[in-house]
Amino acid sequence: MSETEKRYRDFIGELPDKIKLVAISKTKPVDDIMELYELGHRVFGENKVQELTGKSESLPRDIQWHMVGHLQRNKVKYIAPFVSMIHSVDSQKLLNTIEKEGEKNERCIDCLFQVHIASEETKFGFSEEELITLLDNINPEDYPHVRVKGLMGMATFTEDLEKVRLEFKKLKSLFDSIRDNPAYNYPEFKEISMGMSNDYKIAIEEGSTMIRIGSLIFGERKYH
Ligand SMILES: *Cc1c(COP(=O)(O)O)cnc(C)c1O
Repeated sequence: MSETEKRYRDFIGELPDKIKLVAISKTKPVDDIMELYELGHRVFGENKVQELTGKSESLPRDIQWHMVGHLQRNKVKYIAPFVSMIHSVDSQKLLNTIEKEGEKNERCIDCLFQVHIASEETKFGFSEEELITLLDNINPEDYPHVRVKGLMGMATFTEDLEKVRLEFKKLKSLFDSIRDNPAYNYPEFKEISMGMSNDYKIAIEEGSTMIRIGSLIFGERKYH
């Protein structure tokens, strides 16, 4: 059994049934993805459009590809034909583009709004206020090719686990307030994508439904 296979089996063995696992395969070769595929795993995530489209073309058709990284509007067209979920919707303009490309491809694209919960400047996403303003100003009927499925957030990269927990709590309470507000009509608003290799346990305790795990399954990434 390979290291990747062993790590995956250990990870899945401990994971509560109701939590969805997106295996983040960025920088990893297609062979590593195939190892998990052969174990029955189908949901993979990438953070770059070029890598996502390249891998999707050389791997089995029934893989569900999630886009988890920052998405430029001019690149939506490359992933719109096949992407299973976009976790990183961070502006109305991007939402409009996804609607347009969904229509061209005659499909409805699952989307999450990315919310900026970390204290680092570099992470993308709406502030809570910006997201509420957006939701107050758009009509779901104008987006028949977008299915709003929930929220995504990334916590601050820190050893301070209480800070991480507070950020996840904030995302969960924003999620609840949107879901429970009758003014917003998103019947599929059910997912909170939060938790990565270093903080997924806290994320699950705080109500995550979907975790995005890379290094803990595929091993450390090497950038050069
Ligand atoms: C890389 C990445 C992950 C996975 O990170 P790990 O720490 O390797 O688990 C999750 N979400 C996003 C948006 C990423 O870019």
